[in-house]
Order: sequence, then C-alpha cells, then structure tokens
Amino acid sequence: MSDPARLLRHQAYIDGRWIDADDGSTFEVTDPATGEVLATAPKMGAAETRRAIVAAEAAMKPWAAKTASERARILRRWFDLMMSEQDALGRLLTREQGKSLTEAKGEIAYAASFIEWFAEEGKRTYGEVIPTYDATKRLIAIRQPVGVVGAITPWNFPAAMITRKVGPALAAGCAVVLKPASQTPLSALALAVLAEEAGLPPGLFNVVTGSASDIGGELTSNPTVRKISFTGSTEIGRTLMRQSAETIKKMSLELGGNAPFLVFDDADIDAAVAGAVASKFRNSGQTCVCTNRFYVQSSVHDEFVARLAQATAALKVGAGLEDGVQIGPLIDAKAVKKVEEHIADATAKGAKVETGGQRHALGGTFFQPTVLSGVTSDMLICKEETFGPVAPVVRFETEEEALRLANATEFGLAGYFYARDMGRVWRVAEAMETGMIGVNTGLISTEVAPFGGIKQSGLGREGSRHGIEDYLELKYVCMGL
Ligand code: ADP
Repeated sequence: MSDPARLLRHQAYIDGRWIDADDGSTFEVTDPATGEVLATAPKMGAAETRRAIVAAEAAMKPWAAKTASERARILRRWFDLMMSEQDALGRLLTREQGKSLTEAKGEIAYAASFIEWFAEEGKRTYGEVIPTYDATKRLIAIRQPVGVVGAITPWNFPAAMITRKVGPALAAGCAVVLKPASQTPLSALALAVLAEEAGLPPGLFNVVTGSASDIGGELTSNPTVRKISFTGSTEIGRTLMRQSAETIKKMSLELGGNAPFLVFDDADIDAAVAGAVASKFRNSGQTCVCTNRFYVQSSVHDEFVARLAQATAALKVGAGLEDGVQIGPLIDAKAVKKVEEHIADATAKGAKVETGGQRHALGGTFFQPTVLSGVTSDMLICKEETFGPVAPVVRFETEEEALRLANATEFGLAGYFYARDMGRVWRVAEAMETGMIGVNTGLISTEVAPFGGIKQSGLGREGSRHGIEDYLELKYVCMGL
C-alpha cells in the first residue's frame, strides 16, 4: 500500500476502473525542467466522457442518500492518505508542473485541506423553516446536491484546483467527472488512486484525460451534467458558458486575474517588498492571484523599486527538486514567449529593466525573475495577465489615481495594497473592484475563506462555508395542513 510508485498511473479512471482510450491513443506528459517524458496518459474524447457521466449519475443516487457524516468519514480518509503521501505527491507534482518541492508539498497540504474542510461543511448544509404567509400552510427550504458535476482544471495547481471542486461536490452528495489539464494529469490520477484506497465508491470521482475540446464539449452539452466548475482562462470560461447555455447548467468559473498591488506612502516598505515578492513570484508568477501590476506612490517609489529589484535578483532559479530553489521553469515555450512579448512591448514604450529581463542561462523554459520600472498603463503588461516572473512598477501620485488605474480592467480577482492609515485601509479595500483583497499581506489563499472573482474573473466562490453552496440547489416545499 505504501509504495509511492503506485501513484504514477498511465491510465484514466472511470467508474472505479483504470482504463485506456477506446482507440488506444495516448499523449506525453513532460517535466518542464528537463523536457524528459515522465509518462503517457490516455487521449480520450466524447465517448469515454459519456460513459463517465453515466457512471457518475448511477453512483450519485446511493451516495446522496448517505448521511453527511458517512460521506465525511470517507473524505477524511482521503485527506489522511493525501497527507501521509505528501512527499510523494509533492515530488510528482514538481516533476510534471515545475514548481519547487517546497511549494509543491505546500500545495498538497492546501489541496488536502479542502477535502477535510468540506467533509465537515457537508454536515452543515442546513435548510430553513420560513415563517408562513398563510395559516393553513407551512413553508420550508431544503438543500440538495445539484447533480453530476463536470470539472475542468488548469496546470498551475494540479492538485488544489481539483480538491476545491471535488471536495465540496462529494461532500454535498454529487458525483464528478474531472478533466485535468493535459500538462499535469498525473497529480489528478494520483489523487484518484488515494480516493480509491480511501473507499470512495466507483463512479463518484472520474478522471478523464485527453482532448479538451471533445471532453469539454461532452461535459457542457450532456443534459445529465447539471453543473460545470472550471478554473482557467477567461477566454475558455466564456466558451464553456456559451456551450452550457443550451442545457442551462449552473456555472462556477474561476478565471483570469490582473491583480494590482498598491504601495502607499504610509506603508511599511520592508513588509511591502516581502509581500510583493511572495505575491509576484510564487509558482514563478503562474497563479491567477499573482500580482500582475505594481502601483507605488511617488515619495516611496524609488526606494521600493530598488529594494524589490534587490530581493528579486536574489531569488534562486532552478529545477524544483533542487534544494533551495525558489523559481522553477515556466510551464512551456508558449508561456516564455508571452513573458518576452510583454517585456519587449514595455521596453519599446519606455520601461526600464531593473533586474532580469532575459531567458535564464539554465535554458529550456527558465526565465530570470524581472523587475521593470517606468511602466505605464498603455503597455500590454498592464492590460493582460503575464503569468510569469515579471514585476512591472507604475508610479502614482494620489489615492484616487491609484484606484482608477487599479480598477481599469475587466478582471476582478485579487488585489493587494500596503498602507497603515485606518481610513485609507477601509476606503481602498471598499473601492478596489476585486473579489479578494490582501491588506498588508501578499498571501491570501486558505480553505477557510471564500476565493473567487468579480467582473470577468468569474462566478461563484471556492472554499469557506460558501464553497459548498455552488454544489447545492435550494428546494422550497410548501405544505398544506
Ligand atoms: P491555461 O491558460 O491555464 O492553460 P486554459 O483555460 O487554456 O488555461 O485551460 C484550462 C483548462 O481548460 C485545461 O484543462 C484545458 O485543457 C481546458 N480547456 C482548454 N480549452 C478547452 C475547451 N475548448 N473546452 C473545454 N476545456 C478546455
């Protein structure tokens, strides 16, 4: 049972069975640090997805009929297994995704925390007794599982983006068909191994690897799927919402961000620099809540830029499994190209490279952690999510100007600011158009708080007591006496 090699699977997991694609085709999963092929996974499409949906529908009925604490006992075992395999899961995650082992093991603990949290929250999906409008009637509202869930997840958090959907779905009594990102399917399959060992009945958690458009097309068009939960780009989120319109599915969308990070003149600059590094360079800048744009008030601008550049230049770049590495490779060549385009556009329009700015000497998809100053709003880097290790700094004069610049985007996921004045802290926290705000901190993610965006950054919330609501329907029952 405890041999970590059992976690590396080459087959998909449907209805409690490990299977190949119908036509036997596969795709390769590579280590972004070395280019080495780690494994192959089945390249499945609509037919296999349909079978997973049928299995999920059948498995859901007895699962939903169990008590919340019966479901919780199985989920708790899954959590325990994830934590006892934290090192092996972390290593697998680093190899397919690139992040440092420290971050990867942190992600496993974070991923597991959603299973533990929602196992408990499942017990608290209370209904309501409503004061009646008619003396001959009694009114109640009950919460029931939404139905079969189609989940589609990205490569930047190959474990945690899965559990924050699957945890609440299973706890609520739903069954899930998951399509993990094709860059990182191995962590998803390893989670399925542990779910099986935890005693999760077949059909409740299906992992279908392969063609995004074929699997996504089936998940969104199949009427049995009642809900789509997606984390990824705003562009694909729009497509999935459009495709789901025909069958009126519920949607949870956790989409792109373009997080602003404001440093006001009353900020603790030491803390702001530390928060900036944490928020910008985690996962080499490849998280949807990573800072994309820094705005720094004039009087503290030069000091902040100098210290941020110094801290950035000191970050250790390398393969994630090496000791002390803080910045791993980017996920693929396309990601490097986008980073280079943003830097080239910024410097052509007058930005200055304070540190970095180039591909790293290690080659491959390694990139130097970079700080740019003299950045202005017309540059691509302020408009689009860079998703890489580049910190562009814009100078501002007044609070109004900072807020106007910060809010000038269709995105609204996370925002950060550093300030000490109480009035300013309240004003800015209320005025920033984002679903999440870090005040004097660059790290905000936790399973106990509601994670999600406003504007075109998404719909719904993951984590916290609110995260299970997305997987429940409210049913009103009106009883005549
Ligand atoms: P990223 O830029 O993070 O790769 P994407 O939105 O492209 O974000 O991908 C996130 C997830 O959505 C991945 O699992 C990807 O395979 C999947 N995906 C991409 N295109 C489609 C599509 N047309 N239909 C369904 N899923 C898709």
